[in-house]
Parts: sequence; structure tokens; C-alpha cells
Amino acid sequence: MQVSLQINARWIITVDANDSVLENHAVILQDDTIIDILPQQQANRYSPAELIELNDHALVPGFINAHTHAAMSLLKGLADDLPLDEWLNEHIWPAETALADGEFVKDGSELAIAEMIRGGTTCFNDMYFFIDQTAASASHIGIRACIGIPIIDFPTRWAKDLNEYITKGLAVQERFHTNDLINFTFAPHAPYTVSDTSLKTIQPIMDELGLAMHIHAHETESEVQQSITEHGISPIERLKNLDFLNPDLMAVHMTSLSESDIQLLAEHHVNVIHCPESNLKLASGFCPIAELLNANINIAIGTDGSASNNDIDMLGETRTAALLTKGLNNKADALPAKQALRMATINGAKALGLDKKIGSIELGKQADLFAINLNSIETQPIYDVISTLIYSANRSQICDVWVAGKRLMRDHELTTIDEAALIDKIKQWQGKISPFHHQPNKAV
Ligand SMILES: [Zn+2]
Repeated sequence: MQVSLQINARWIITVDANDSVLENHAVILQDDTIIDILPQQQANRYSPAELIELNDHALVPGFINAHTHAAMSLLKGLADDLPLDEWLNEHIWPAETALADGEFVKDGSELAIAEMIRGGTTCFNDMYFFIDQTAASASHIGIRACIGIPIIDFPTRWAKDLNEYITKGLAVQERFHTNDLINFTFAPHAPYTVSDTSLKTIQPIMDELGLAMHIHAHETESEVQQSITEHGISPIERLKNLDFLNPDLMAVHMTSLSESDIQLLAEHHVNVIHCPESNLKLASGFCPIAELLNANINIAIGTDGSASNNDIDMLGETRTAALLTKGLNNKADALPAKQALRMATINGAKALGLDKKIGSIELGKQADLFAINLNSIETQPIYDVISTLIYSANRSQICDVWVAGKRLMRDHELTTIDEAALIDKIKQWQGKISPFHHQPNKAV
């Protein structure tokens, strides 16, 4: 049988329901779809147009970055070592007000997408402005994306009021809705920046279009306290009262949760998006992962934007998630490697409503996967390949990446992005953005 591609790999980390790891198997692709996975000796029934031998490699489902602001990669390192409110109000928002236009988003998104592909990410869930540019960049480069239609109760360079946020967002959704790689959500920034009135306005539109909601919530304890002062209830209780708690909600950060908040999340099957490095760097607080797991809540992992991380490295983020949960709970098995890997792959797919299509290496799924070369000093010896991947490997060992069967990185080289030209463009942005740089140690 003629097929488009056969990949022979030393290990296939499937992330199926049993966390199966297959040794010396082949993955058979017909265009964008995985049509067979079988022992290499039995693969001679196929005549592939291309055969790739990965004798020292693991094939892994592409990481799903369940929360990021791709274009903010231009602000990487602009203002470090500051708490969230000061970081946002005094540095990030002023820089964005001055600079964040369509060109900024186009180039920033391209930088982020390049970094994500190099790190094995094949799908990202984005929240930002000028979403036409992010959707176009993702589509053009060939990565899968979930684009959030932004809603915030103040004017930005993208839109002046609620009506314009909605109208412009829906126009982009309309333009890309037949594109297989591009999905959409509604992305109100956070309960403290979006009023009940605005939330109620978008609700029927979300329902009609079948769009999920992607929102920051409970990022810090002070956000929760402010909500209790102003509304008498926590942000999650407020979303419950507005009838937004359901399996289509992706609630990002989720620190400072009470027992009753956790119960609400569990009862309504809300997805929690955990961004451990952003929470650590901004000292925002801790998401109680062990308690959420006990309550059977779907947890996915996101890097957040590069301005608060400062990398968008899903392998590193997943390791941090595993280590942080162990440490916080004084319990070494509080988040094992296998479970952390599920959070970075299939759980992200589930949060996005795409788990029938992506998130694991299984028959009938889209071929969104990466290969990592484990034949290096850092990752020898290998007793358990998932442990090696999560606790020892580095993203620089990731060498090949496919999205929908298309090879976006070939032996460490991006195939749809001119890396040298991109770096030149980013250096020009650095010149324009550097006046906003926060220098903590500057003499006064
Ligand atoms: Zn964020």
C-alpha cells in the first residue's frame, strides 16, 4: 500500500489511555493522518514515499501550550523581578500601548512560533490583540493554533470598545473558520478587567458559534481579595453566577483556591491551565495541583507569555510543574512524570475540545508529533524513556517536528521560517522597545 511517510523510531511514547511506550515500532502517515502503528518488521506491507529512520529517538505527541501570548515574545526580558501589578501596570501595558500594532504582533508571533516549534510544541492556545496577524502567521508557518478573541474593558490599539472587540474578532474568526489548523475561543482577559455586562454580552455569541472561553482567573491572592471586596465572592464564584462554569471553560492560573472553589471547578468540569513558571517568576502564588488532581479536574500546562516566563519551553515547563507539585506537597509522587506529560499533551487537547484529533500518537489522529534524539551525554543511560524525557532531556535535543503530517523542523532546521531573517527583524524591534526596559539595578 502506498503511503506518504513511514517513521521508524526506537521509542514511541504514545500517551494513549495506558501510557503505552512502543519499542522499535513504525508510525505510518497518509498525508495529515496516522493510519497505522506497528512493529517495524511488519511494516513492509507499506510502500512509503519517504522513510525516516530514528534509531536513537523517541517520537512524542506534540506539546500543546495551553496558554500563551505569542506576540509578547518581543517583550522577553523587558521587565523582570517585579510583582504582577507593577510589572503589568508600569511596564508591560505602557510598552504595549506605545508599540503593539499589527506589525508587532506579526513579528512577535513569528518569533514565538519559531521558538515553540523548536521546542516540540505543535499547538498553542493564544490570547492577544491583532489576532488576524497571529492567525495568519500560524497558518502560513503551519502550526496549529487556537486564537482567542480578546475582550477587555479598556481601549487598546486593536479596539476602542466592547462592540469593536467583538466585531473585529468575529471578522477574523469568519475569515479563518474553514482553516483546519486554526481554531477560535473567546478570551476575556480576566474577571477583574471584564465586567459582568461585557461577559453577558459575549455569552450568546459564544453559545451560537460553539466557542469555548479562555480567561485568566485567580492569578494572585490580591485578585481574589479584590473580588471579595467588590462582589462579595471569589472570581470563580462570580463566573459560576454568570453561568460560565462548564467543560468549555479554560481557567488560567487558578491560585488561591478555596475548597468550595475547587468543588465548583470539579462539579462543572472546568479545565484548569497551569502556568507554573510564570506564577513562580511573578511570585503570584501556587495552583494546588494535587488537590485538583484529587478532584479529577482536567489540568493542562501553559507557558504564559515570554514577558513573564521568559521562555516558551513546554518541556522545561512540564518538568517545573512536576517538581513544584512534589515540593509543595512534600510528596515525591504528587505529580509523576507520566502524568505531567499527559498534562502537556492530551489534557491540553481535551481542554481545547480537540482530544479526538490531537494530543496522542494513535490511529486516526492528526500527525502532530516530534522526535527527540536521546543519544547524548545528558540522556544516557535510559531506564524509563518518559522519565528521561521529563527529568533529563533538554528541548535542544528535539530535532524534528510535524504538524498535520507536515515537517516543520527537519534535523533542527525550521522548514517554513527563515531563522536568520527572523533574528534580524527581532533585533530591529529590540532597538524600538529598549526605551521601555526596566533596569532594577540602575543607580539613582
Ligand atoms: Zn497569561
